[in-house]
Amino acid sequence: LGPTVTIGEILVEIVARETGTGFREPIDLIGPFPSGAPAIFIDQCARMGGAAAMVGVVGDDDFGFVNIERLKRDGVDISAIAVSPDHPTGSAFVRYREDGSRDFVYNIAKSAAARLEWTPQVEALIAHCGHIHVMGTVFASPAAWAITERAIPLIKARGGTMSLDPNLRKELLAHGQTEEKFASLVDKADLLLPSGNELFLAAGMDGEERAIEALFRRGVQEIAVKRGEHGASARQRTGARADCPGLIVEETDPTGAGDCFGGAYVACRRLGMPLQTALEFANAAGARNVTRLGPMEGAGTRAELEDFMARTARRS
Ligand code: ADP
Repeated sequence: LGPTVTIGEILVEIVARETGTGFREPIDLIGPFPSGAPAIFIDQCARMGGAAAMVGVVGDDDFGFVNIERLKRDGVDISAIAVSPDHPTGSAFVRYREDGSRDFVYNIAKSAAARLEWTPQVEALIAHCGHIHVMGTVFASPAAWAITERAIPLIKARGGTMSLDPNLRKELLAHGQTEEKFASLVDKADLLLPSGNELFLAAGMDGEERAIEALFRRGVQEIAVKRGEHGASARQRTGARADCPGLIVEETDPTGAGDCFGGAYVACRRLGMPLQTALEFANAAGARNVTRLGPMEGAGTRAELEDFMARTARRS
């Protein structure tokens, strides 16, 4: 039916090598690493062998080049990634604190990422996509939201499907009408990929079983619940289920785990793999990604993920 598409921000991340607080004195930094939640998702989707495409904007600069080259190398259709002549590629400086929380300096709001537009290239791409993956980052970007809202019915009208990774960070909930927008997306989603309390936020109630049943009644067909180091579970409306314990890894950089999980899961399911197999690959993609510095650096091919699973112990 056509590739999986995602819409949203592309940026680079520059990471402090050492944990600590803020950026008020000179520190050792490493980067630029390709980043942006949708970009990480779609890169992992393509690396897993899924047909993949992205709608985004980068600046006419090295940070944009780094991203485009990576996505192209990994097999993502970049025909609808525009290059803005007068806005720079977004960037994020990240420093982990001892307790695992992060300090950021963002340059995104006024970057090329905010210049997303419905262009003829976007129109042509959306006309042949078979699946759209929506991420909560759309709530922070009016431009991404507008394109997403327009693309979903077009893809659904041709028999395509939609997945939703709520990604509801505190910063996102602060944006106007996020809750209404979120509820409207849940009602359209075929597949939901929540983590933390997002399952309860999506369902509007607590209790995993109750929340899952309520979402199935609202039309969701499949739910993959991410549980961080404890692995993940998947459920289908038909009653099928799969569970996967966490793989035991040393966490170097947790950024991007959920996006890699989602990219692998969607790719595997669209390639026709059974629930359990898709979940195992997704769980491995999330775990492998946290072992590498840089938000997208641990995304793996099918062979790399198979090798990683074969030599990594699981939690009991
Ligand atoms: P999100 O980033 O969306 O909050 P998670 O942190 O739950 O998502 O990570 C997504 C998936 O990646 C998890 O369900 C798990 O499969 C894997 N994962 C993440 N962190 C770890 C970890 N520390 N050890 C093992 N697996 C992990």
